Amino acid sequence: MPLRHVDNGRGEWAMVDPDGNAYRDDTPAELKADPKGWWDRLAAADPGAYSNLLARVQLGHWSWYHAHRAEPTEPYAGPVPFCCDSPMWASPRGWACRVTGDLFPYEAAA
Ligand SMILES: [Zn+2]
Repeated sequence: MPLRHVDNGRGEWAMVDPDGNAYRDDTPAELKADPKGWWDRLAAADPGAYSNLLARVQLGHWSWYHAHRAEPTEPYAGPVPFCCDSPMWASPRGWACRVTGDLFPYEAAA
């Protein structure tokens, strides 16, 4: 699925899908509608799968809900401006000073 970087509204990067969603919830409709019944049916049909899935969910190792993350890509290799003796952060709104948080629009920093 093609994802793209956007400003999350707080000056931080977020990944969104083509519909503009930063999160995806793949929870089965039957589970949302009737959680107890869904788990009970799974326990009756496949006790091993029920036990395995319940443990993973309760331990936080599995969820049908996740934030989009981009595939690892090549790091930016262009010039990075410095401010306050530190390399600046490429924020969605421009180069940001890591010390003061001051923003410099990309056009001006280039
Ligand atoms: Zn600075």
